[in-house]
Amino acid sequence: MPTRLARVKKGLLRSATRRQRLITGILVPVVALMAVLTVWSYARTTQLADQVSRPNYNSDIWFAVSGFMELGALRGKAGLVGFDPAADDAMLIKLAVVQSIFEPTDKGPALELNLVRQDREASTLLASVQQIIARWGAMADDGAAPADLAATIIADTPATLRAGGALVSRANILVSEDYDQRRQELLEDFRAFKLLLSIFVVVTAALVGQLLLSNRYGRRLHRHMKLINRRLEARVALRTQQLRELAETDSLTRLPNRRAFLERAEALLAYDGRAGLPTSVLMLDIDFFKQINDSFGHQVGDNVLVTIGETLKSTLRASDLVARFGGEEFAILLPGTPMEAAAEVAEKIRRKVEGLPLEVAGEISPFTSRAGRDVSPANFTVSIGLASASDSSLTEALRAADYALYEAKAAGRNRVRLSQGLATGHA
Ligand code: GH3
Ligand code: MG
Ligand code: MG
Repeated sequence: MPTRLARVKKGLLRSATRRQRLITGILVPVVALMAVLTVWSYARTTQLADQVSRPNYNSDIWFAVSGFMELGALRGKAGLVGFDPAADDAMLIKLAVVQSIFEPTDKGPALELNLVRQDREASTLLASVQQIIARWGAMADDGAAPADLAATIIADTPATLRAGGALVSRANILVSEDYDQRRQELLEDFRAFKLLLSIFVVVTAALVGQLLLSNRYGRRLHRHMKLINRRLEARVALRTQQLRELAETDSLTRLPNRRAFLERAEALLAYDGRAGLPTSVLMLDIDFFKQINDSFGHQVGDNVLVTIGETLKSTLRASDLVARFGGEEFAILLPGTPMEAAAEVAEKIRRKVEGLPLEVAGEISPFTSRAGRDVSPANFTVSIGLASASDSSLTEALRAADYALYEAKAAGRNRVRLSQGLATGHA
């Protein structure tokens, strides 16, 4: 079953993933696209603004005006022919200037005439002016007398100036319209730029917001992960502790087992050795335990083991070490206790056990034996071997206690034997 934390973690992960997808899948591409569009729009707007701000960008009006002025000047020079000796040449020079302005060249018009050439009315006016000028040019090329040329120019002037004047005003209108149109375009472009810029700002703000949120989610996720890890570590530590206890405890009597005894006994013995304190060890074995099993069943045997375990625990001090060493064998280490005192403790245990009726060890009646025979409510007894561990290793001390136990058994059981041969208790 998923824990609450695990569910929170899952939820956080899912929303973090969704957020990440939103950022990388949608927001980043949109921001990039908006950035490109905004830059493009800015460039276009700037270019248009630049064009509109240049007064000579469309030169049609200047062309028309200057052409018109030069026509007037040519008329002036023509009027002087016959009165001023230099007027002939001046007229011819002016004519060349006028020609250079109005005559189309091989490479196109001499001056820019973009708007004029696109407008039918203006181009008709231009053509009529060009026609008249072409006629003057032909006369000059044919070597006509200056007086004749001057007379023709003067005669043509009203029509030419009229056409020229009309061309100027037409060009004026065209240029104004052109500027209006450009200004309009510029305005529209500027509006589009403003819109793009606004969208760009909004989308960028959304992206930044999402990034901040995703950062916050990341931090929360991290915190939760840490919490989960801590709990997991605590659970693992607890479980390890439980397993350790399980490995060191006898499941029936809940006493330390042989392994735990050996480990802890070494430490206690070492401590006493350093402190110069005496240490004693006891080996205890239930007498005729096999018979108890055989007569009353294993359950009663088990209960006897538990009862003895409890008796040992209640009789000994908390600082003493008691363990179930083997089947129906118990080992005891008494730190800081000399042999004489240990013998008293052993004797106390022996007597206590001796006084326990077998009934306490089982629900079943001691009178109903497995064999169907009547068995009197017997007591059960223990034999105890005792040795000093002060001047020997733990193994040696245990061996000595075991030997003393063997002697106690041999001497008739239900008694305490000291490894140096001093015996106490009943027999
Ligand atoms: P002695 O007085 O010489 O010690 O005789 P004994 O019958 O006590 O000794 P023996 O070694 O012949 O028998 C020990 C018995 O203890 C045999 C075994 O089945 C029994 N036993 C060992 N562990 C357990 C246990 O956990 N539960 C029960 N019910 N019996 C056990
Ligand atoms: Mg035994
Ligand atoms: Mg026994």
